Amino acid sequence: MIDALPPLRDVIRTHDLRAKKSFGQNFLLDLNLTARIARAAGDLSGADVLEVGPGPGGLTRGLLAEGARRVLAIEKDPRCMAALAEIAVAYPERLLVIEGDALDVDALAHLTPPIKVVSNLPYNVGTELLIRWMTPKQWPPFWDSLTLMFQREVAERIVARPGSKGYGRLALMVQWRADARIVLSLPPEAFTPAPKVSSAVVHITSLRTPRFPANAATLERVVAAGFNQRRKMLRAALRGVHPQIEAMLVAAEIAPTARAEEVGLEAWCRLARLLDGGQA
Ligand code: SAM
Repeated sequence: MIDALPPLRDVIRTHDLRAKKSFGQNFLLDLNLTARIARAAGDLSGADVLEVGPGPGGLTRGLLAEGARRVLAIEKDPRCMAALAEIAVAYPERLLVIEGDALDVDALAHLTPPIKVVSNLPYNVGTELLIRWMTPKQWPPFWDSLTLMFQREVAERIVARPGSKGYGRLALMVQWRADARIVLSLPPEAFTPAPKVSSAVVHITSLRTPRFPANAATLERVVAAGFNQRRKMLRAALRGVHPQIEAMLVAAEIAPTARAEEVGLEAWCRLARLLDGGQA
């Protein structure tokens, strides 16, 4: 037992929290599992934690029991508020719950560094939130690490290497500025109700500076152009990016006949620098 609060099945019954599809609700009811996810985020004792979508609060309880200094939990479903208020009482001054859409709430106003993000994300907004967290105006970002549940297929795309099936924009965007690895795999039955697919927790730690120099907008533009036509050779897929793209590719040490999925991060950064008029 990680705290003196009632088991999550009782919480769900008491507050009538039947999972709703529209909110992307698949709850974790095993507190040993939520404690494991909290521990996957590393030492929480000196950190503020941002949790998106606490639902009935299983992971929230794990985070608090594992010693998070404070947890800011943003939940869209008003039915969850009473259950979350009970957790706030059990952990005085350590849990702040905001009812709202995580895409709209200014979480930063309520957090003090160091900040870790730990969430069992609603699948419908998970990738959008990840992209936001990976592309802030300032780098390094407000967070030290992201420990996030995704559908297994999305988790694999985040950590994918060149030449593998899932390799693309998401892998490059994350790996340019962070280290990412899958730390836990979960079968559908770990959730209530069970989703159709397996899930995985990805742990992402931010680098202080991007792995290789490049302008973020240029890198994003050229990578997007390359992968939008991923079956084409790059000399064709990138035709619209620069009139002398073939020479640029050669200067960046990329075969003009290569496809986007064969090109590693360092080479994409070289190409982005050349497109900006710099040195490879
Ligand atoms: N963290 C809980 C757990 O592990 O059992 C619930 C996870 S469930 C997959 C996703 C949660 O996110 C739900 O509670 C849902 O209501 C909430 N949610 C969905 N969309 C949201 C949004 N845009 N902003 C904040 N919360 C959202």
